[in-house]
Amino acid sequence: MPSRAPTVAIRQLASLARFADLGAYARQVQRLGGCERPVRMEGHRLDVHATTGEVVREIANRDLPAGQLLIRCGNRRATRCTACAEVYRKDTYQLITAGLTGGKGISTEVARHSRVFVTFTAPSFGPVHNRPQGGRCRCGRAHSEDDPALGCPLDPHRYDYRGAVLWNAHAGALWARFTTYLRQRLAIGAGINRSALRQSVRVSYAKVAEYQRRGAVHFHAVIRLDGPDGAETAPPSWATTSLLTDAIRSAARLAEVPGPFLDGRSDTFRFGVQLDIRPIRSADFSGTSDLTSRAVAAYIAKYATKGAESATGTVDRPIRNPITDLIGTGVTDHAKQLILTCWRLGARPELDELRLRKWAHMLGFRGHFATKSRAYSTTLGALRQARSDHNDVLTRERAEQAGCPLPDPDTVLVLAHWRFAGTGLTAAERLLSHGTTSSPPNPGADGRTPHA
Ligand SMILES: [Zn+2]
Ligand SMILES: [Zn+2]
Repeated sequence: MPSRAPTVAIRQLASLARFADLGAYARQVQRLGGCERPVRMEGHRLDVHATTGEVVREIANRDLPAGQLLIRCGNRRATRCTACAEVYRKDTYQLITAGLTGGKGISTEVARHSRVFVTFTAPSFGPVHNRPQGGRCRCGRAHSEDDPALGCPLDPHRYDYRGAVLWNAHAGALWARFTTYLRQRLAIGAGINRSALRQSVRVSYAKVAEYQRRGAVHFHAVIRLDGPDGAETAPPSWATTSLLTDAIRSAARLAEVPGPFLDGRSDTFRFGVQLDIRPIRSADFSGTSDLTSRAVAAYIAKYATKGAESATGTVDRPIRNPITDLIGTGVTDHAKQLILTCWRLGARPELDELRLRKWAHMLGFRGHFATKSRAYSTTLGALRQARSDHNDVLTRERAEQAGCPLPDPDTVLVLAHWRFAGTGLTAAERLLSHGTTSSPPNPGADGRTPHA
């Protein structure tokens, strides 16, 4: 099939060229910025002058070169749309960077606040094939970095699949519990009570979830101490990096979430013993740290565009039928077992609220991938709005240069009605978009932690 695609595309373009403006068509497709699965809409839009009632502009799908309105899919997953995931990654990078060094409306003073980069792991659910530093795996082999056996259980029959998916399902609640303990431990460390802490310090964070090869979620987070009103206010001098580090360590140890009582067994979910806390280098940081703001922002942004599919080899969309959906997908036996465990447990009424079937492709984790506290930084929405405002200004400038200025947006009423008409690009549109008929390859996960 792929070898026939260029012929199909060229034939389509040749027949289009007979009755359509190919240049305009190419411009419409190229405005998608490389989006591979745009949403296609049919309908119309009328721009009406608010006072005179004059129709200033009319757009109907049939007048558009593609015959339909095309809108970027905006998917964050690199396996779904490389171009849109790249936009998401860059926005996330900006958001994290603004919270570390300022910019985008955040004061550069924020760089003086104590902040650390923390990795929270999941506990063990049974031994898996790995690459211990400088040594051999327990199975006796020295696995290569891309060995698909990595992360798979040494003994699948004894691996705690139920514990593994239920841990993922409770990871979000465990994080929430951790943040409560963190405030408590900071107050104890500072020798003040919780309400005095609230009046002098605010804890801000941004975190991203990443899947380890074994299919367990772990979290990477920037945790920062601010003054009482967030990023714009300086924390008290006693709010040091070492106070923060100690408080994180004990809060992570204390945090636990009770699991369901099922088949005579109940679980309690905690973080794994491996906890990595590293100060992030800043203007005022006097200790030794090789971790820069840039490395942290790049690392978090990278993982914001990945789901379970990149590390564990599961699928990147919800499962409807666990048997037929997994045939021919190249999903590993280990990931299959995790998905099937979600499916099986998802039938239990007492686990309804975990919605394990809906989130089976995420191996039970239903939390948000990237989250932040309100005061951490700017928002993705604000960054998108700034980009759209910038594009509006460009459109306006171009229209003025072309001698047909657009009316003031405040005086124009927009009446629009669009309905969903499908997704994706035709073969000809793909050719106009990339100059190729196949999708570009997706970058893979390398699973490394950042260094300066
Ligand atoms: Zn897209
Ligand atoms: Zn091994």
